[in-house]
Amino acid sequence: MKKLLVHMRTWIRLISLVAIAGLLIVGGVAFIYKPTYSVSLNGEFIGYTKDKSQLQSRINNYIENGDGENIAFVQVDNLPEYTLCLLKKDVETSDDEIFNVVKQSGKAYYKYFAIIDNNEEKLYVATLEEAEKAIAGLKEKNSKNKDDLTIKEKYEAEPKEIVTSEEVISKLYEKVEVKKKTIKSSSSGVYVATKGVNTGKKVAIAVNLIKPISGTVTSRFGSRWGSTHKGIDIGAPKGTGIKAAAAGTVILSAYGYNGGYGNYIVLDNGSGVQTLYGHCTSLNVKVGQKVSQGQIIATVGSTGRSTGNHLHFEIRVNGVVQNPQNYLY
Ligand SMILES: [Zn+2]
Repeated sequence: MKKLLVHMRTWIRLISLVAIAGLLIVGGVAFIYKPTYSVSLNGEFIGYTKDKSQLQSRINNYIENGDGENIAFVQVDNLPEYTLCLLKKDVETSDDEIFNVVKQSGKAYYKYFAIIDNNEEKLYVATLEEAEKAIAGLKEKNSKNKDDLTIKEKYEAEPKEIVTSEEVISKLYEKVEVKKKTIKSSSSGVYVATKGVNTGKKVAIAVNLIKPISGTVTSRFGSRWGSTHKGIDIGAPKGTGIKAAAAGTVILSAYGYNGGYGNYIVLDNGSGVQTLYGHCTSLNVKVGQKVSQGQIIATVGSTGRSTGNHLHFEIRVNGVVQNPQNYLY
């Protein structure tokens, strides 16, 4: 029994010694070495890290979000591999270097919004909000291209120059040209429509008129040969200058037969008044041109349905043909 007790004590002493020795060894190793991960990428060593989980989350965060403006995500073909090893404490770890190597191996994809004008990508902005602001601004300014503008969300490997909504507005704004009211000159078949003939009383007109030519009225206004003569004919030698009866804009200046008028001119004299000059030889003014009262706009001739040199002169008020002799001659 006593022998057994001695035996037990020896054993305890021995176990304690072994345990102390073990702790000393572990402590010594821990003192000199530290647990470290050797990191490699595509089989190549790229550095050591002490804190694997911190480095991993930093890399994952970069892949998901990038680290620059407008980077949508990063594509990395291979993730780094970590191998546990023991290194002496004075060996330097290099999380930043590892991170940079991983970063350079990846491909960043940029996210931005293209402003598209008539199916063409023109400019790029950072956010949908900026894009919408730019288009709203152009619409507000009534830019000519306002209905051709659209937004497209883009993911591209190529970074683009990002501009602000203000820059988009100033660069894409197109002024709407105010179209001048023009009636194209035509060689034949041109006719300025009328809205009837006033064979009754004189109507008041706001425009002061002068005689386009001096001469004798050879055919009066009204019924003639079973139809209505819409103007008066004034005989004059060929080439006599025809004056504008009032200032106005040329709305028709046409060579040709023109339904019998021959070469003729129609002026818009304002206040609903139009004057017409038919059977001319030459026409001196063009459609859209402004003329002053008395200005020579054409010369007398016998073109169209005519049997001799004369001016066929008409006055229309709001489209209704009036008798020129109520005002002149
Ligand atoms: Zn006539």
